[in-house]
Amino acid sequence: MISAILPTYSPADLAFDRGEGAYLFTADGRRFLDFTSGIGVTSLGHAHPHIVKALKEQVDKLWHCSNLYMIPGQQQLAERLVANSFADTAFFCNSGAEAVEAGIKIVRRHHCAAGHDERFRIICAENAFHGRTMADIAAGGQEKHTRGFGPVVDGFDHVPFANLNALRSAIGPETAAILVEPVQGEGGILPAPEDYLRGLRAAADEFGLLLFFDEVQCGVGRSGRFFSHEWAGVTPDIMAVAKGIGGGFPLGACLASEKAASAMDSGSHGSTYGGNPLAMAVGNAVLDILLGDGFLDHIVHMGTLLRERLDDLAQRHRKMITGVRGLGLMLGLECIIPNQDLMMRLRENNLLTLTAGNNVLRLLPPLVIEEIHVDEALAILEKTCGEWE
Ligand SMILES: *Cc1c(COP(=O)(O)O)cnc(C)c1O
Repeated sequence: MISAILPTYSPADLAFDRGEGAYLFTADGRRFLDFTSGIGVTSLGHAHPHIVKALKEQVDKLWHCSNLYMIPGQQQLAERLVANSFADTAFFCNSGAEAVEAGIKIVRRHHCAAGHDERFRIICAENAFHGRTMADIAAGGQEKHTRGFGPVVDGFDHVPFANLNALRSAIGPETAAILVEPVQGEGGILPAPEDYLRGLRAAADEFGLLLFFDEVQCGVGRSGRFFSHEWAGVTPDIMAVAKGIGGGFPLGACLASEKAASAMDSGSHGSTYGGNPLAMAVGNAVLDILLGDGFLDHIVHMGTLLRERLDDLAQRHRKMITGVRGLGLMLGLECIIPNQDLMMRLRENNLLTLTAGNNVLRLLPPLVIEEIHVDEALAILEKTCGEWE
């Protein structure tokens, strides 16, 4: 008999009752160090007082009124995103999948309005993940996500990640855009080399393509910069954002330059819930902290510390871990032992981690961690590796 919940997930036999900072607690009082952040979402940890306060205040005032009316919090958040990025405009939605979907529509509309409706194809990377809508699974291009859901939405071509020659060879008269994650997340914590990102920008400029970055996982501070492409000194034309920007409240955004988005006129896209007052209150509160003095530096500092300690762990357990990769507080342990087994054993020792592609153990701690949390995580990793041997 089918379960009451559509069985598309396989949750662990574990439920949490409350969270505080980097910790999650079960109803019977067990405490777990959360290095998953709900898959990169609770960027400021659980129950951060500033965002709790912002949400509570908004809850008492107004939940929803729709985009038929002006939403001051939306204006404020859009202006802050625009002021702190390449973008000139922002569309608000409720998830990463919708943010990518909006970007795909902006791409098609842009070329169509320029009289080139034949230019609709988007070159994407192999091993990518862009969400679960029909167009997003086509963009991700992974058979495991498209199988049984055909026909697959047309217009997405795939080339190996981080291979500029392959990408340039795939450009044709129908190509409209390039879509990549600057750090592949689900695919195994693979940062794109900076010269590759710069090469994408050059190719896009040369052939009149739009450059579209999916920063749903690697954006909003995760890499140690507000957006991870800043490390490479390039800017996209379109960018999908979600996960960390809502700190746990469903919130996504598609940011774009004026050039890319100028054909998106009234009625061309929309969302009933997108940009609602609750989400905007939280998004603005997240930015208060994230863009506050020294916070991005804190992430870089903690990322460096965690990375050094993980490198050291890998050195001492070469039969289990071959290396460490990632950017900022988005790190992956390249495993020899099955990543799923390591994740489960760490959970038994009260450290929550994630897996990712290519047998990687993925760590996405909240961006507010301090050295004591790094110490605690490493002690658990050390203990677990010891038990394994
Ligand atoms: C999680 C993720 C998505 C999809 O976000 P949802 O909120 O689950 O729809 C898209 N792109 C990337 C890179 C992601 O990590």
